[in-house]
Amino acid sequence: MMSSTILKEADRVMTICNACRYCEGFCAVFPAMELRRTFSDEDLKYLANLCHNCRDCYYACQYAPPHTFALNVPRTMAELRLETYREYSWPHAMKSFFQNNGLLVALITALSVVTVSLLTLLFQGHDVVFGTHTGAGAFYRVIPYAAMVVPFMALAIFVLISLWKGFATQWRTVGGTPQELKHWPAHRQAIWDVLRLKYLDGGGYGCNYPDDRFSMIRRYLHHAVFYGFMLCLASTTVAFGYDHLLHRPAPYPFWSWPVLLGTLGGLALLAGTGGLLYLKRQMDRDPAAPETLDMDMVFTVLLFLTSLTGLLLLCLRATPLMGTLLIVHIGFVLGLFISMPYGKFVHGFYRYGALVKNAIEQARENN
Ligand code: SF4
Ligand code: SF4
Repeated sequence: MMSSTILKEADRVMTICNACRYCEGFCAVFPAMELRRTFSDEDLKYLANLCHNCRDCYYACQYAPPHTFALNVPRTMAELRLETYREYSWPHAMKSFFQNNGLLVALITALSVVTVSLLTLLFQGHDVVFGTHTGAGAFYRVIPYAAMVVPFMALAIFVLISLWKGFATQWRTVGGTPQELKHWPAHRQAIWDVLRLKYLDGGGYGCNYPDDRFSMIRRYLHHAVFYGFMLCLASTTVAFGYDHLLHRPAPYPFWSWPVLLGTLGGLALLAGTGGLLYLKRQMDRDPAAPETLDMDMVFTVLLFLTSLTGLLLLCLRATPLMGTLLIVHIGFVLGLFISMPYGKFVHGFYRYGALVKNAIEQARENN
């Protein structure tokens, strides 16, 4: 059951904003709000996931603290968003994972690295882990094919089911129908909004991040993380095809598609997450929801370490350090996979759902 205090506060905030409407040019939340006179719980959950947390409406607001209204839209939306992550999680018993999320994700990742290390040392032995391996199939000499592929395939299937179930629950909760989910023009609009990160542009000025000055830097860094992640995903998919369709196991030469895509993606991820972590240390904490800070931080650090170990593995794969780096990298990837449906990663899916709903609403309004 969602906390009624957070919903009441979100209702109060949106009701005042709906009378004011000063911030309507900043993002999609305000135009969506203006289509309503009152706000149901479902409306508020939808608006919370539509908010991109650009913070522009906090610094622009004449009713923000120290005004007695104490309006803090980004913080209220972030608190409600976290509640929706709990509510939409599948299996539902996993909702408690969003409590102390940062600590739990850090522990799971540490445990993943330790488990992969111990199992590899136990079954493969010291000489194999610390030896030099080159040529086709070198990685599988340290971690055998079945041990590498089978657990990840099983985990990937579970993660996909879990993310889909969460998305479907969100869609139902905000009043979406299965028919509306087939509204392709709305998907096209939402995908275009995602690819441009449209609502981190603050109507053309950027976010008020890390402080009250307008800046596009967060948008650009977020772009680097998003496209870096997609390139790494493309690299893994192409490598999977090379291995299973062409029977060419890794490692691959530098001028091959898996390595080129992975290197570009890894560098973009490293730059994007590194920059975001730097900004996070400087940011004004007043518009942030304290409960989400650790979750955001640990997720970003995990992406940073995963890309860093991946790139180090590429550079040092022909040395005796390859085994250790492979184990640590696989451990980080495992931690990332396990925590995907139960951490910051889900924000992309629920925001996409909100953008699709928004595109449907706006299309209806304009017809
Ligand atoms: S955040 Fe403040 S200024 Fe902006 S619409 Fe709401 S009440 Fe008005
Ligand atoms: S924080 Fe940004 S995205 Fe969220 S409601 Fe305010 S202006 Fe819109």
